[in-house]
Amino acid sequence: MDDLKLYASSEQDMEKLMHTTSEFSNDIKMEFGLDKCASVKVTKGKKAVFNGISLPNGDKIGGLDEEGYKYLGVLEANTILHREMKELVTKEYVWRVKKILKTQLHGKFTMQAINTWAVPLVRYGAGILNWTAQELRSLDTKTRKLLRINGAHHPQGDVDRLYVSRQLGGRGLQSIEEVVRREENALTTFVKNSSDPEIVRLKEFFVEDKILLGEEIDKEIDSLQREEQRRQRWTGKVLHGQFPRQVQPMADPDSWSWMVEQDLKKETEGLLIAAQDQALRTNYIKHKIDKVPGSSPLCRLCRSHNETTDHILNGCPKLSQTDYKARHDKVSAAVHWSLCKEYGFDHSSKWYEHRAEKVLENDSVKLLWDFHVQSDHVIEHCRPDLLLVKKKTKEAVIIDIAVPGDVRITEKEQDKILKYQDLKREIKTVWQLRKVSVVPIVIGALGTITSNFRRYLDSVSCKLRVSNLQKTALLGSAHILRKVLEI
Ligand SMILES: [Zn+2]
Repeated sequence: MDDLKLYASSEQDMEKLMHTTSEFSNDIKMEFGLDKCASVKVTKGKKAVFNGISLPNGDKIGGLDEEGYKYLGVLEANTILHREMKELVTKEYVWRVKKILKTQLHGKFTMQAINTWAVPLVRYGAGILNWTAQELRSLDTKTRKLLRINGAHHPQGDVDRLYVSRQLGGRGLQSIEEVVRREENALTTFVKNSSDPEIVRLKEFFVEDKILLGEEIDKEIDSLQREEQRRQRWTGKVLHGQFPRQVQPMADPDSWSWMVEQDLKKETEGLLIAAQDQALRTNYIKHKIDKVPGSSPLCRLCRSHNETTDHILNGCPKLSQTDYKARHDKVSAAVHWSLCKEYGFDHSSKWYEHRAEKVLENDSVKLLWDFHVQSDHVIEHCRPDLLLVKKKTKEAVIIDIAVPGDVRITEKEQDKILKYQDLKREIKTVWQLRKVSVVPIVIGALGTITSNFRRYLDSVSCKLRVSNLQKTALLGSAHILRKVLEI
């Protein structure tokens, strides 16, 4: 027995009830936790002055003070103290979100922590506390503001996307408004379908209670339906939806696997998402969208192209030999690392710390890194990123890596295959090989991959996760964005 509440219509009746309860408690050797007990007298619906009630053994249960008391976690006096309780919940919720954002938790875990440690505070009172839509929305607004202050969400980033699951390219945050309404709906449906006589009687008593009336069932709140609406709103927007719309025809669903599996810092994740949302204030955006007077849309580095996010990430001649190459080489080194592991060459324990050797050779394979293949003929493309020769089966694989603009990934894969046809024929003949294949490893600068990607990795026994390679490319892109835009 725990959390017992006694009701009686007069003080005398209450004393009798207390007597019975007290005897029963003695019989089962349970004691009253007097400090947790309180008594309230209600006259004509209002709390009356009351000094408390005495137990048969002389102990006294005091009258309830102004602050009320918590019953099953909710503040009450003669009725539920809605305003006070909502203030308490709001304060604690905001405190928890701030606490989470001050930690070093990465992007994905930040959202998970908010969903599992902060949001349930509000969900708990759903159906009991009379939250207005405005109050719930302002909690969601407050959450977004805190995310912004802590660099996890760009001020011009898409709001709907925050609440779409990470598998679909969203950030996976739960909306307080939706969580509470969903909970209320579940309760309403339960009450509506219940034939339990106690519940049926409750409905007769509380004729004004929306939940007990079972009227407010918002079917659209069903999470999948609401999520799809949000996804459509996000992808339908002119700027925010441009990226998902453009990559949709060639993107494998695994393009979002870095959002699900990887642990990028919340600021880095926020920056990359802002880049996809076209939210970064590039010169082009400042000129075209913000219409800053006297501004130039041109790139601050090359001064010859419009400074769009795509230009900064993939098109600026001033960055191609330095930052683009560094990003490309990191992806290349990761693939090299996995081949070293596969074929028994020395390699560091962590793939991201790997430094590739130009030439590696053992009894079974030869692995060449950025190696210029000598030939008697003029071959334009004779320096692939990686070249693997399997001695026993007399096979070779030309592996070439690219991190282009996301919309060009399919085209880039085909380019790579075509580009190495001459080299393929040449080494097949000169090195007397049975089979030579070309494998393009192409990741969009903002993470998009084609449905061929995994197959290509498997064909060269690269066991790295897709998301590891995406992360490598994305960290390079984030570095470039920070450097150019000075974020
Ligand atoms: Zn430029």
